[in-house]
Amino acid sequence: MTALDLSRLITAAADAIAAHAEELTALDQAIGDGDHGLNMKRGFDAVRAEADVFAAKPMPDALKAIGTKLVMTVGGASGPLFGTLFMALGKEISVEPDRANLTAAFGKAIDAVAARGKSQVGQKTMLDVLRPVHDALAGGRTVAEIADIADAAAEATVQMKALRGRASFLGDRSIGHMDAGARSTALLVRTLAQIIGGKA
Ligand code: ADP
Ligand code: MG
Repeated sequence: MTALDLSRLITAAADAIAAHAEELTALDQAIGDGDHGLNMKRGFDAVRAEADVFAAKPMPDALKAIGTKLVMTVGGASGPLFGTLFMALGKEISVEPDRANLTAAFGKAIDAVAARGKSQVGQKTMLDVLRPVHDALAGGRTVAEIADIADAAAEATVQMKALRGRASFLGDRSIGHMDAGARSTALLVRTLAQIIGGKA
């Protein structure tokens, strides 16, 4: 991946988050405190503002720096979790990752998020999208299939009862609403898949 590619990925991700900030906020309003859209927009805008700086670094360093920036700027519960995802990905990924390395690194990064959040699949969080996306990567699915799997996984959080994060305070009343972090994760996956798929 070239610096130009990474810069395009960052810009596209930040654009997608900005375009959906209100939707993410509305989801978080229903079962949280309504700041998820703003949190994510603030963080990804900050990453976009320095896209060229990140893109000039080798992939592992770029991902670690993006993760650190997200921790500093997103805030809320999701900031440290998305930050951990990118930082751990940076630790595990090679300078020129192939699919096998990306898959293994992504799996370990998800483990790091789960450890940080003391959470696991089925608790109505971003993990409910991250794990199926990892499994789809490992299973050799195409990028278009992976984007659809991410959307379906976010949709599947509607029926779940939240057991982590603010939404868990609502107990059964969290059922019937999509998890905001699952939705933002699916958005990011689709955006990255579209760009990577356009080239593959
Ligand atoms: P806050 O809950 O502090 O307001 P945000 O609204 O930005 O933070 O993010 C909420 C999202 O973070 C949730 O929708 C969920 O996906 C994710 N989340 C919260 N707590 C956890 C956790 N312990 N493990 C994994 N994801 C979590
Ligand atoms: Mg919130």
